[in-house]
Amino acid sequence: MLEIENLSVNYKAIKALLNISCRVDQGEIVALIGANGAGKTTTLNAISGIVPPAAGKISFEGEEITRMSPHKIVMKGISQVPEGRRVFAKMSVLENLEMGAYIRSDKKGIVAEIDRIFQLFPRLAERRKQLAKTLSGGEQQMLAMGRALMSRPRLILLDEPSMGLAPMLVEKIFEIIQEINREGTTVMLVEQNAHMALSIAHRAYVLETGEVVLQGPAAELAANPEVRKAYLGE
Ligand code: ATP
Repeated sequence: MLEIENLSVNYKAIKALLNISCRVDQGEIVALIGANGAGKTTTLNAISGIVPPAAGKISFEGEEITRMSPHKIVMKGISQVPEGRRVFAKMSVLENLEMGAYIRSDKKGIVAEIDRIFQLFPRLAERRKQLAKTLSGGEQQMLAMGRALMSRPRLILLDEPSMGLAPMLVEKIFEIIQEINREGTTVMLVEQNAHMALSIAHRAYVLETGEVVLQGPAAELAANPEVRKAYLGE
């Protein structure tokens, strides 16, 4: 579904990504794990068209999207949930969701989508009129995910969904990610919480200083002594 070939990204003199290749197949949850600064967010931002690649190719459903605008990439069916959630603080829950549907004009479809999101996140339904800034961290994460789902993406990119959340909420968010995936959305997940990420992913890639150093089925990586030592705290 998504194919990244020999992708490099520079920020001026900093080489953030060096020739990385990876793929996401339809129906999968694929995790990208690695330490702070390894290049995980940069990978997602390159897919979304937010940062320009210095070299390499990104294709989605057989079509090259490498230098398309972020808007066009959303139209193609890819939606990103940014790190730190970044909901529209002064808008209500409902308004935030409506903003996520900005590429759609089918009013009925949008209303049905909001219903679907309220089923997935009952907490958001209860708080539909509340300003986003008054929500807890976990609720803001749910809202950011709901907003991204409003465009009905076939691939959703999640950047550190567990960041700053209490363990119980982390579990809840990961359950919801699995549910979204079961309902047919393919997931690419960036996480510093390698333990959680590997527990729900089908496959994973390990990034170190801008390069893919390990890849494979998530269960295999979780059993790999190097991964256990470096990322699972053993
Ligand atoms: P984190 O979890 O901290 O976001 P990450 O694995 O997502 O880490 P990136 O944010 O992709 O890593 O950063 C990769 C490298 O690029 C790091 O060395 C980082 O300092 C650098 N970098 C990221 N964004 C910029 C930017 N806008 N300008 C300059 N350097 C940047």
